[in-house]
Amino acid sequence: MFRAILLNKNEDGSTRAELTQLDDAQLPADGDVMVEVDYSTINYKDGLAITGKSPVVRKWPMVPGIDGAGTVIASQHPDWKPGDAFVLNGWGVGESHMGCLAERAKLKGDWLIPLPHGMSARTAMAIGTAGYTAMLCAMALAEQGVKPEDGDVLVTGASGGVGSVAVAILAARGYKVVASTGKVAEADYLKSLGAAEVIDRAALSAPGKPLQKERWAGVVDSVGSHTLANAVAQVRYGGTVAACGLAQGMDFPASVAPFILRGVKLIGVDSVMAPRDRRIAAWSNLALEMKDDTLQKITHEIPLAEALSWAPKILAGGVRGRLVVNVKA
Ligand code: NDP
Repeated sequence: MFRAILLNKNEDGSTRAELTQLDDAQLPADGDVMVEVDYSTINYKDGLAITGKSPVVRKWPMVPGIDGAGTVIASQHPDWKPGDAFVLNGWGVGESHMGCLAERAKLKGDWLIPLPHGMSARTAMAIGTAGYTAMLCAMALAEQGVKPEDGDVLVTGASGGVGSVAVAILAARGYKVVASTGKVAEADYLKSLGAAEVIDRAALSAPGKPLQKERWAGVVDSVGSHTLANAVAQVRYGGTVAACGLAQGMDFPASVAPFILRGVKLIGVDSVMAPRDRRIAAWSNLALEMKDDTLQKITHEIPLAEALSWAPKILAGGVRGRLVVNVKA
């Protein structure tokens, strides 16, 4: 038996979440690698799954946890053997395949990537899907030719998981980062991660004009809705926006004007189904670029049982940086 967070659907459609004991036979039959999970995380999506606030869970019962890091204990997959250290992000784990907020998981070997050399399981989960997505966004800006000398780069939802890591990565890469946040009291925190300037998100979150004063060479947006529309409307000629999130909303109330008059590029960033090569590239960049002392500032560690009480807090925007779950605690 091992401990796990388990989600069940009530008759009225609501979600019931509890810390319970499972045995190996309850894990998915279609996994070919049994792993021991040392650390997991709470991402925004895990918050949605545990509270049932949005229908991200597509199979019941479900173990949430879209991220995990630990050790392989048994494998029928040719690439994995007992003792190998892995990191797992996405692929529908914690949504349609039982996830990593549990001491054990049965996963597909094709989904796992080797834990980067020298990185601990805890560090990998301090980064988690949020940090790996932030790296995918930074890679997208660089690939579209956004260079530090081109001008200011905006990060929205800056005090959240994606935002905090994006601020740190972009600042370390030499960009002048402007952090947009609803928590202006976190200005010192954001500056300690490398933000050159902190702005109140209220300046971006209300409906705005389709074309506004040019300001940003690049944008990493984890917020969507009017914030994304305003950011796009403020991008300088030929600049790029990497859009990955919907913390304000899934809508995109914008016009084509920035695209057809300023050649602005809007790049969608998905971490869940990103190909393996892309993941390995992102994780190897993270291993090189994410410093332990920076991650220390970003991370708050909680034991497995507290995953339940932190889930609503992340949805309410009440989490600074990243939540790491010590699954064994
Ligand atoms: P967090 O909750 O940690 O961060 C989200 C941040 O957005 C909050 O901290 C807050 O930052 C800001 N925010 C919250 N509500 C609002 C609002 N109503 N209006 C404006 N800003 C708001 O979540 P994550 O960083 O884990 O995820 C961020 C988003 O990215 C989520 O929508 C998530 O689903 C998405 N995501 C997408 C991925 C992909 O593959 N595309 C992967 C990972 C995440 P502040 O207080 O500083 O303004």
